Amino acid sequence: MTDVLILGAGYAGLCAATNLAARVRRRDDVRLTLVNAGERFTERLRLHSTGAGRPTADLRLPDLLAGTGVELVCGWVTAVDAGARTVHLDDGRELRFDKLIYALGSAADTASVPGAAEHAYTLDGFREAEALAARLHTLRDGGGSVLVAGSGLTGVEAATEIAERHPRLTVRLLGRDKPGSGMTPKAQDYLTAALNRLGITVQAAEIGKVRPGGVELAGGEPVPADVVLWTAGTRVSPLAAAAGLTVDERGRIVTDPALRSVSHPYVRAVGDAAAIRQGFGLLHGTCQSGMPTGVHAAVSVARELDGRPARPFRFGYYHRPVSLGRADAVVQFTRPDDSPRRAYLTGRAAVWYKETVSASPWPAYARMLTVPGLASWWPHGGRYTR
Ligand SMILES: Cc1cc2nc3c(=O)[nH]c(=O)nc-3n(C[C@H](O)[C@H](O)[C@H](O)COP(=O)(O)OP(=O)(O)OC[C@H]3O[C@@H](n4cnc5c(N)ncnc54)[C@H](O)[C@@H]3O)c2cc1C
Repeated sequence: MTDVLILGAGYAGLCAATNLAARVRRRDDVRLTLVNAGERFTERLRLHSTGAGRPTADLRLPDLLAGTGVELVCGWVTAVDAGARTVHLDDGRELRFDKLIYALGSAADTASVPGAAEHAYTLDGFREAEALAARLHTLRDGGGSVLVAGSGLTGVEAATEIAERHPRLTVRLLGRDKPGSGMTPKAQDYLTAALNRLGITVQAAEIGKVRPGGVELAGGEPVPADVVLWTAGTRVSPLAAAAGLTVDERGRIVTDPALRSVSHPYVRAVGDAAAIRQGFGLLHGTCQSGMPTGVHAAVSVARELDGRPARPFRFGYYHRPVSLGRADAVVQFTRPDDSPRRAYLTGRAAVWYKETVSASPWPAYARMLTVPGLASWWPHGGRYTR
């Protein structure tokens, strides 16, 4: 019996588990176990919407895994012993593995600035997003101020969603870069116009500290806010480094071209938790690249179980879809290295596009993968690769 353990049931881990299950369904010598913090699938792509107070689908992992043969274990991973090939959970359980797919994702980097962990809200999970929604609800009628820290795409999506949903709140988007950097000037202008239309104040600055009731800029100037939402940067779990796996300076597992850990080849790393190099550089954490890495890990493990060599992973980006509230969006099409092409979509067409790519794909997707033949159809190559 070969025990394959998958840690983390986010986009990458769930892709790996369901795809591998479909590929080994006729084998009785492979056992698949998926470990996740809770039973609910965290649709991170929708958490800015949850945080603004909109209802989000309650997708349960046992339903998504029904019929796949994957055993779900709910628990918090506290340690990985890469040498002994065991994983420890917070309730004292120990799980053994022959092969490990590490997909523990990432979270907002609240450690980068003093006070952020204590005083800022995050969009790390449903609990955190719902806490933000509850706080905004208490402020919505009397007015109040929200400061979104981080002008990346998550910050833009959160600020626009909050401003649209709570028009009496004043919303400030504060970050180092101009929002929409990495887009063509025309797409960036469209994004800026949407921020202006929603009354969002954009400020280029660096935060030095988060305090109760606001932030202090790096130069010491206070910026008051009733709510601070932290979206500036991400960090990964320290578990991989503590396990002795080779990690990069951000703690992500360094992989070879087949997504194996360079120090422990029976460990694969996928999604935000992995440092995966392509010809153009390191992948940055997105669902767009995370799902194909999960599928590729499944394909590779299945090949190895059949005695065939794993193939290298090849990926190229193709878009940056950004919602600007529920009624507007901008989609920047990109070259494989994520640099912008001239083409972009705006308005209704962009809303439709964005909604289609972030729609809750799991019930249909997971069921599709249980149909023999369709698992190998899912593109882990083709349009995802160069
Ligand atoms: C608001 C928001 C909007 C976004 N929008 C987009 C977008 O439009 N397009 C895009 O491509 N990307 C987007 N992203 C980024 C995208 O969500 C991530 O890149 C993606 O979720 C990474 O997938 P993952 O499977 O690697 O990790 P995750 O989705 O983070 O999943 C990790 C899983 O592991 C579990 N876990 C973590 N630690 C432990 C532990 N110690 N024990 C047990 N379980 C654990 C978590 O509970 C979670 O289920 C967005 C992110 C946010 C926050």
